[in-house]
Amino acid sequence: MKKIALFPGSFDPFTNGHYDIVNRGLLIFDQIIIAIGHNTTKKRYFEVAKIASELKKVFAHKPQISVTTYEELTTDVAKKHNATFLLRGLRNSTDFEYEKSIDQINKDLYPELETVFLMTKPENMAISSTIVRELHKFGADITKYVPISFT
Ligand code: ADP
Repeated sequence: MKKIALFPGSFDPFTNGHYDIVNRGLLIFDQIIIAIGHNTTKKRYFEVAKIASELKKVFAHKPQISVTTYEELTTDVAKKHNATFLLRGLRNSTDFEYEKSIDQINKDLYPELETVFLMTKPENMAISSTIVRELHKFGADITKYVPISFT
């Protein structure tokens, strides 16, 4: 059976940390669906459509990776795509505590779904979408932290 993983996140924006998790995820999974979550009541900084179209370009040479957007429960999106794994990244104990709670709720909603966590690489440890947004807002160059173009 094909191992299909959903990699869900806000990806506002998608950073080199996320990029590395997806690429290393390919060592484990046959197919990875990057799912950009958005909530119409919550304001984003980077448009979902822009992130999605840039990611499609970045991963165009890797047919095992696809990109989708969603506005529903992550577990429902996983079911819809026949994904039985969630892929998530961990940087520190704050991430761990947060991920632990989400995993417990997800287990209630979809018991067959297993979450696989990959530790970030040291060089990506300090990269967060929040910091990248701040840098961009104040006109700093973010190209070093993201795999996609924002021009
Ligand atoms: P969410 O809004 O669901 O927290 P994010 O877009 O912030 O989504 O992150 C998606 C996933 O990527 C989460 O599992 C998060 O812990 C992980 N992540 C974020 N930044 C990094 C990084 N620099 N290295 C590895 N994983 C990361």
